Amino acid sequence: MSRQSKFLKHVRRNGAAAVITTITGTVCPHIAAVGVTYSKEWHRNNPATADCNGTGLIDRTPTNKNIKAFFIPSAMIGSSNVPDNMKKEIGEKVNYDYLMIGVLDADSDVYLDITGYVVNKTYVTFDSSKFRIRNTYPLGITSEIGQASLLVKDDQL
Ligand SMILES: [Zn+2]
Repeated sequence: MSRQSKFLKHVRRNGAAAVITTITGTVCPHIAAVGVTYSKEWHRNNPATADCNGTGLIDRTPTNKNIKAFFIPSAMIGSSNVPDNMKKEIGEKVNYDYLMIGVLDADSDVYLDITGYVVNKTYVTFDSSKFRIRNTYPLGITSEIGQASLLVKDDQL
């Protein structure tokens, strides 16, 4: 059994249930007009176009996936075993709320690589709150057994 399989076994048995939501939709015309940065002014000047509200997408469709992972409150994170680049970000971003370690796709019972999940198109629902995935780091010493992600609570979601 690979290290990743052993790790996922722990996640499956002891992880907390959560939902990861991926948003798909039509790319907002403001991006072609003024770039990826959200432009309130562009939307004010183009009232016929639906406001993407900073997401870059209109006609948004959420797709939910049940997951399992370990959720560690940020206050409990010690300095040992945390990669330097993660420590740097933790130090800079005091507002992150959880470290999410996993992740198991509970619907398919397979490892879920969330590296490519884009911040404003994905969020995690855990313990009745919604969180943006701030950043994701590989987890493991000799090989990647899972991932650790910084979650930031966002009441606008
Ligand atoms: Zn827009």
